[in-house]
Amino acid sequence: MNIFEESKKFIPGGVNSPVRAFGSVGGEPVIIKKGEGSKIYDIDGKEYIDYVCSWGPLILGHSDYRVVKKLKEVIENGTSFGAPTELELELAKLVVDYVPSIEMVRMVNSGTEAVMSAIRLARAYTNRKKIIKFEGCYHGHSDSLLVKAGSGALTFNQPSSPGVPEEFAKLTLIADYNDIESVKKLFMENKGEIACVIIEPVAGNMGVVLPKDGFLKELEELCKNEGALLIFDEIITGFRLSKGGAQEYFGINPDLTTLGKIIGGGLPVGAYGGKKEIMEMVSPVGPVYQAGTLSGNPLAMAAGIETLKILGEPGFYDNLRAKANKLWEGFGENLKRLNLKFAFNSIESMACMFFKDGQVESFKDAVQSDTKLFAEFFHKMLDKGVNLAPSQFEAMFVSMAHSDEDLEKTIKIHFETLKEMF
Ligand code: PLP
Repeated sequence: MNIFEESKKFIPGGVNSPVRAFGSVGGEPVIIKKGEGSKIYDIDGKEYIDYVCSWGPLILGHSDYRVVKKLKEVIENGTSFGAPTELELELAKLVVDYVPSIEMVRMVNSGTEAVMSAIRLARAYTNRKKIIKFEGCYHGHSDSLLVKAGSGALTFNQPSSPGVPEEFAKLTLIADYNDIESVKKLFMENKGEIACVIIEPVAGNMGVVLPKDGFLKELEELCKNEGALLIFDEIITGFRLSKGGAQEYFGINPDLTTLGKIIGGGLPVGAYGGKKEIMEMVSPVGPVYQAGTLSGNPLAMAAGIETLKILGEPGFYDNLRAKANKLWEGFGENLKRLNLKFAFNSIESMACMFFKDGQVESFKDAVQSDTKLFAEFFHKMLDKGVNLAPSQFEAMFVSMAHSDEDLEKTIKIHFETLKEMF
């Protein structure tokens, strides 16, 4: 039986999230059986060095023994109670301790939910309706945010989706990433109407695009002057760039932060948090309603706690950076040896090679990439045992489980692949 063909009969496109379907690179997705450390294994037993890491959460690699041990302990007591547990408090304390601007935090089940709730809160707090997002940034699939979005929406050329009423979409204004003038213009044209600006501090859903020097600081000041909240969507960058995320890395103090991926250690968790004064508007303290049957689920909390504790160990990020830099430098050398001028953007343990010469500093630059070349590159890497995200517009992630041997092998395969192609 072809599992993917059979799945298509029962699940739209055979997948539970669109980019998994290999739509933009062609071919059939690999059906995964298990993951261990830096590797994943398909149902035929083929091994791949994995740089998708479940699209970011697995900063420790697959089935880290400490996370698995903790899960086994916790599951013995039950799987869900719908009542407060000590585990929720423990994870909340870790988040407040690690993320500089977060004084209070609410757990939800996905990044989408976190962003949706943060936006509602920002609208309630400011008593304003409009929001600003950046073209090519992805903030989940809720109605207000699925307007000129990145990630799978961009990969499938569906950045704005049918089913989102025009009336909702009209309240989402679009600025250009790394262009502060485009944000100023929107504030000027919508004086006193903007509730918040939401941004991925490092864009990770149009490939990886780094903020230009001073851009995030200017944005912070602009929001303050205009009485709008600044929301950092740190669903990728949180606990990835540093223990305190992008806000610690760049020294910015957003009003609200959304978290996902790493915070759940591979289980479904999202969270939003920020200043106490704002967070106390959330029900049951305040009037802004938001709830969840499985929110704060004990297994998800346990995986998050164990993961975050490990990230807090001395030297964790130095070690991870050393691994990542070894890979990024190797890729850089390969490009030089082959006299290729493709843009390569990296920061800490996330990166993206664009099939476009020169720099990629904006959404407009990113979409000039040659996606056909990317598709060829992707399949050749996969055939040789390296698993990358099946889209030009996604990041690759190095985890703590990647060994020197994995990294060296990947650099070699990267060279051979590009050599075959050019
Ligand atoms: N925000 C960002 C920056 C993301 O990268 C994602 C998912 O990739 C989301 C929000 C949505 O998170 P989820 O897929 O958990 O709903």
